[in-house]
Amino acid sequence: MRYKSSEKKFNIDNHNKTCLEKISSSKLFYTRDLFAYAFVALFVVFLIIVFVVLPSNKQANGFCVKKDGQVVFYFTNNTVKIQNDYDDLIETVGIQNGVEVTIYTDSNKTNFNVILFDLSNKTAKVTKSTCSHSKDCCYSPAISNSGIIYCAPHGLSIEPIGSGGFTPPVTGGIK
Ligand SMILES: [Zn+2]
Repeated sequence: MRYKSSEKKFNIDNHNKTCLEKISSSKLFYTRDLFAYAFVALFVVFLIIVFVVLPSNKQANGFCVKKDGQVVFYFTNNTVKIQNDYDDLIETVGIQNGVEVTIYTDSNKTNFNVILFDLSNKTAKVTKSTCSHSKDCCYSPAISNSGIIYCAPHGLSIEPIGSGGFTPPVTGGIK
């Protein structure tokens, strides 16, 4: 009984050996397959960089808020960077997972827009406005790395930095 079982085992070992021999004899094809797998793996990494890593970097660039075509402030790295001459017209309040910026659109501070920057979703949205009865800007969906919110009565626009070739200046103006 014992003898039989060890004999069987020997047969299995022999069978495995033949399989290995088969593989080593077709080594040329095996190497070519490895190159193909490596190429596919590199291609997947390339796709991840192009469609996942780069867009998320773009998203982190922040937003630019303009009034009548002039930059009022940038919102980058979770910080409000107000341009000269607009300090008195901006109020910033930190809230949970976000920053709420009130921008007054006249010197009497009777008209304003409130923009909410969501830090977790990296989006911008107008939450309050005194612009018109319809308040189109408040009903505009939140924008992230594309799109634009425009408040025509106040001449106000909110757009993501990095879209449409727009980049903030490195020197001058920014506090
Ligand atoms: Zn509006």
